[in-house]
Amino acid sequence: MGWPVSHSRSPLIHNHWIHKHDLNGAYGMFPVEPAQLETAIRGLKALGIAGCNITIPHKVNAMQLVDWVTPLAQRIGAINTIVVQPDGSLNGYNNDGFGYIQSLLEAQPSWQANAGPAVVIGAGGAARAIVVALLDAGANEVRVINRTRSKADEFAQEFGPFVKSVSWDARQDVLADASLLVNTTNQGMHGQPPLDLPLTNLSKQALVSDAVYIPLETPLLRDARLRGNRTVNGLGMLIHQARPAFQAWFGVLPDADEALYEKIIKTI
Ligand code: NAP
Repeated sequence: MGWPVSHSRSPLIHNHWIHKHDLNGAYGMFPVEPAQLETAIRGLKALGIAGCNITIPHKVNAMQLVDWVTPLAQRIGAINTIVVQPDGSLNGYNNDGFGYIQSLLEAQPSWQANAGPAVVIGAGGAARAIVVALLDAGANEVRVINRTRSKADEFAQEFGPFVKSVSWDARQDVLADASLLVNTTNQGMHGQPPLDLPLTNLSKQALVSDAVYIPLETPLLRDARLRGNRTVNGLGMLIHQARPAFQAWFGVLPDADEALYEKIIKTI
């Protein structure tokens, strides 16, 4: 459920796994306007639907409309998955952070959250999931930089002493010792300008990742690759967040297999 939702690659992902595991089911898209969200969510059980993903702009509001939310999703402040329970009650999950960490590990299995400071650009919904996931993975310094400084300050207050707010103007000055840089803004996405972040000061050892996956290689990732940094695009995050949701609905934990990546890349 999203509004709009037609751009979503999630049907491709889940229907690939349904087919692969020979399951009797289907994953479809429901464009749900905000005023109808509660009615739509409440209708899941009556329609015999196992659950759904929740995407923009419903991730925060949907949290209030389910019966139980995981402590992780509570901390993030949003849900991206609903699972209908046998008694008809609704459980809410947020798997975005899991997807992000798995995408890093897939690209670099030796990656460790405590290898050095992480620099997170942006302080929206994706940033919340990623910052919480980095902290839970053992990061001991996460520098949050957002165009609107007050939101980065809120992160630092809310998530504790390992999270530091850095001003937008100082964004280049905190890259030298970073072990991870991640863009969680929409900058660099198709139709948007590149993220305004010169990488001159960034260590060549830093892993550079982007939540954006259209295009697969954003200008940020291209710059990073050309100067010798390892890069991770946003597609792995999307695919890996889908795995626990699929498991909850269908009882099988699917793989992020090569054929799935190829299928989605063809649509980008
Ligand atoms: P969001 O909550 O609306 O947050 C948007 C963020 O982008 C805010 O921090 C905003 O800063 C910043 N921003 C917007 N325009 C900017 C500009 N011109 N310069 C600098 N910063 C700017 O959105 P979201 O849900 O976090 O999504 C962010 C991106 O992540 C999207 O591209 C989305 O597609 C992607 N995403 C990917 C996945 C995945 O699975 N790969 C999952 C979730 C999201 P302000 O606070 O100053 O406005």
